[in-house]
Amino acid sequence: MQLTSQQLKTYEDEGYLLLPNCFNPAEVEVMRTQANALCLQDLPGKVIKKDGKTVRIIHGAHLENKIFHRLVRHPKLIEPVMQIVGDSSVYIHRCSLNFKPAFADTMWSWHQDSYYFCKDDGMPTDAAAIAMVFLDEVNEFNGPTLLMPGSHHEGLINPIAEEEEASALEQKQYLKYRRTQYMLSRTTVSKLVEKYGIVAPKGAAGSVLLFHPSCVHGSAPNIMSPFNRTIVVIAYNSVDNIPIPVENPRPEYLAGKDYRPLEQLREDALLSTIG
Ligand code: MN
Repeated sequence: MQLTSQQLKTYEDEGYLLLPNCFNPAEVEVMRTQANALCLQDLPGKVIKKDGKTVRIIHGAHLENKIFHRLVRHPKLIEPVMQIVGDSSVYIHRCSLNFKPAFADTMWSWHQDSYYFCKDDGMPTDAAAIAMVFLDEVNEFNGPTLLMPGSHHEGLINPIAEEEEASALEQKQYLKYRRTQYMLSRTTVSKLVEKYGIVAPKGAAGSVLLFHPSCVHGSAPNIMSPFNRTIVVIAYNSVDNIPIPVENPRPEYLAGKDYRPLEQLREDALLSTIG
């Protein structure tokens, strides 16, 4: 599925693009069933919340499960992503299942994915692309991903750890809501929002949100709604942007080391029983 030149321009200008109803209900059902099955397995990339039972995230889903192994190779994702990174082949840097259950306080603080990719994983540039596949409807109630459109033009932005503009008490209060290591400070977020604003792309299950890894994003808790919000987050990287080895590499499920270009599967890959 090729993006039009208008869609590519929107992505370049805004740093994101929503593709509504990309996958059909049968494909979504297959993925949702497999996501729930993975929750019951003991996996190295599984992160449980402090309550000891709620699954927050499963990293490396494409390494553990046939359906997600196929999803990351699906033409509906690979073709647009290859266009985005400049018609180059891509490999998987990371593929995670991200769970935000009904009435749960799961949230993600404001951050840039590229900060992790470049600082922790040795990626030379931010020439990667994120594809978020909605396995549930994403609406205004269940904690949609919030993005600052155009903020990817800023490049890498210093996170809170490198800033001291807030008082000790403010820092302490704000840090209570830190859910990502490289969370941006309140001052930085305020300045960026004044410049770029905030959008919350929403859509039916099966929709795909493409965004630039330097586009600032986060999401609020789903504490008020009875709607689950499960998404698959896939970070594709160009084979022309392979990381430089770092001293303490993160595990394979967080930072993929298989740099072979992904082979594209057929359109019916998720529903086919072959393979
Ligand atoms: Mn992120």
